Amino acid sequence: MPRTVLVTGGNRGIGLAIAQAFVKQGDRVAITHRGSGAPEGMFGVQCDITDPDAVDAAFAAVEAELGPVEVLVANAGITDDTLLMRMSEEQFTRVIDTNLTGAFRCAKRASGKMLRARWGRIVFISSVVGLYGGAGQVNYAASKAGLVGMARSITRELGTRNITANVVAPGFIDTDMTDALPQARKEEILKAIPAGRLAQPDEVAAAVTWLAGDQAAYISGAVVPVDGGLGMGH
Ligand code: NDP
Repeated sequence: MPRTVLVTGGNRGIGLAIAQAFVKQGDRVAITHRGSGAPEGMFGVQCDITDPDAVDAAFAAVEAELGPVEVLVANAGITDDTLLMRMSEEQFTRVIDTNLTGAFRCAKRASGKMLRARWGRIVFISSVVGLYGGAGQVNYAASKAGLVGMARSITRELGTRNITANVVAPGFIDTDMTDALPQARKEEILKAIPAGRLAQPDEVAAAVTWLAGDQAAYISGAVVPVDGGLGMGH
């Protein structure tokens, strides 16, 4: 049964691969972007998830065009890496506001309609770094670990209404975000990954579409790693 899906940051990278996977299986797919426009076959809404009014307006636009959001993929995220000693208050709060509070804004806005429909799927895109930690990533790791507590609390609040909330924790995926890493850091990371390679974005998308499907109705509050074994022991 086709669903209405909203992927934040679905204009590029992992979000785009996730959105394309839902399009491929016949769902009605909306994505948020910050000015780049929507890829072919998707409904695009301009939205900065740090702005609560913009989030509300984006959901309203999706509802008017495709109906209430049944599957929310909270994917939009940023990094702003530096060591703890050098990290400014602004660097910390900006990453939290985007990755964690932004996801909260979207989940909150989605939950009303999901409750009414007595069906919903929320998937948060976290990171291996959320539970593994990352030197120079105090802000990012805290934001991504926070998503686990958020998903598990939503599971406890909304579990009886056929609403699930799960976390997908990618390892190192071949996107602009990892492209920006220094070569030496990339080589170091590769050595630590049991699979010996980075993943492609569609390998993350496969876990997300599975969690959003009817077969995954009894999976909630889970952290699903897609990391080639990097984070084993989470
Ligand atoms: P990219 O940097 O390629 O894309 C980031 C996406 O987030 C873009 O669509 C961007 O929009 C959007 N975005 C950023 N800030 C905001 C904001 N304030 N409001 C709305 N949208 C915003 O990242 P990836 O595709 O690599 O990452 C996607 C998610 O996966 C992130 O949450 C990231 O933390 C996570 N992740 C990535 C890993 C990797 O190895 N790449 C590993 C683990 C997790 P715009 O195009 O407008 O800038």
